[in-house]
Amino acid sequence: MTDLPSDLADDELIRSLAEGTPTTWIRSAEAALPELEDVMDSAAARFDRFAPWFAETFPDTATTQLGAADAGGTIESPLVAAPRARQRLDGLFGARLPGRLWLKRDDELPVSGSIKARGGFHEVLEYAEAVAAENGLDAADHSAYSSAQFREIAAAHRIVVGSTGNLGLSIGILGAALGFAVTVHMSADAREWKKTMLSDHGVDVIEHTGDFVAAVEAGRASAMGAERAHFVDDEDSVSLFAGYSVAALRLKRQFDAAGVRVDAQNQLAVYLPCGIGGGPGGVAFGLRRVFGDNAHCVFVEPSQAPAMFLGVRSGRHSGIAVQDIGLTGRTAADGLAVARPSRFIGPAIGSLISGFASVPDEVIRAGVGVLRETEGITVEPSATAGLTIPWRLGAAESDDRPAEAASPERAAVPWSDAATHLIWLTGGAMVPAEERARCVDEGIDLIERIASPASAVFSD
Ligand SMILES: *Cc1c(COP(=O)(O)O)cnc(C)c1O
Repeated sequence: MTDLPSDLADDELIRSLAEGTPTTWIRSAEAALPELEDVMDSAAARFDRFAPWFAETFPDTATTQLGAADAGGTIESPLVAAPRARQRLDGLFGARLPGRLWLKRDDELPVSGSIKARGGFHEVLEYAEAVAAENGLDAADHSAYSSAQFREIAAAHRIVVGSTGNLGLSIGILGAALGFAVTVHMSADAREWKKTMLSDHGVDVIEHTGDFVAAVEAGRASAMGAERAHFVDDEDSVSLFAGYSVAALRLKRQFDAAGVRVDAQNQLAVYLPCGIGGGPGGVAFGLRRVFGDNAHCVFVEPSQAPAMFLGVRSGRHSGIAVQDIGLTGRTAADGLAVARPSRFIGPAIGSLISGFASVPDEVIRAGVGVLRETEGITVEPSATAGLTIPWRLGAAESDDRPAEAASPERAAVPWSDAATHLIWLTGGAMVPAEERARCVDEGIDLIERIASPASAVFSD
């Protein structure tokens, strides 16, 4: 094993991460929100301005997930209860989860099929408005973006991004639909089909042999100093963050419509797959703004790539990479294959996060099988990272452990027994049939192994 940096070697939790052991860390989140108060509302207003354009350009966005008050054109995903998955996991873990299990189906987000449609689309729309305004068009008028005049202007502007795949897909598809030139720098982890799909949309794809950080660096360097170019910086973007945060406003409407209360007696625990931290960070910020202390967010990463977990725990944020503690950074969950966390998220909102968890690839891949068998849902591996965490936190009652003899882990969980558990499924709809079938077969074969090894649980 790699020697740990000397100041971290005494931290039992970091030793657990360095050994690749599935690890969870629960702590009390801070109540204070950072000074980013307005970004969620202004992003929500921007999505509303573009709704008629989406409804016209992408007809499958015209049907709403948000009820009668929504005229269509909203990029939103279903919220569904998952009683069969919960029952199956109760059986596999030999422990009954109190409270209810729900799924947020961002795997079904229209147009690009992943959570990146939230942040990525928002940044493209913000840039489109800036370009329209600079060129004397009425940026607030959605019909401007369907005009030949805007498309001609957009074609002379280039959007550049580095990605493990899904961010590139979101930025590429939407950027191209608006008429922009787009270049996506793809890391070695990116799936082949994602590159092909982007090329088919007219996007320039540049492949790199290095990891995600290298792809982002290459993108940044190419855009630097270039005229009429915009670099989407996944390591440090308030615009992406703002787009992700809008999910919380929509989620509140969906819980209201389903008759689910979130309050001090009925708290909400949300499990978010985490790569660089931007997606879960934006959503977590939004959830704390909308639900306050009654929402608890747990970020979940592959055990070989726990970048945010390590960054926040060590306090070094983007100053440390998983290789520094001897991990590989490699994972079958390509959307989470990130070795070094965002420069922005940890320092800005790290204190709002109630927990971190790491799980091995086998557990992530088995999750694909469980969701398919029980709920008939097919997602990409990255999406399932959070699925087992409610059980891994010891939140469940086992047959040989009566509820009154709560385990030490159980005592540390800050939410009540009646909590609503929400697993955020982050991607899947775009995966080609062949690859979906392969992931499902692999996942079903692994189901019986989903509960082991057990997680090491820490709290403070
Ligand atoms: C990008 C992504 C995530 C995590 O988002 P980050 O901003 O990288 O933390 C989770 N799941 C999927 C499927 C993704 O594509």
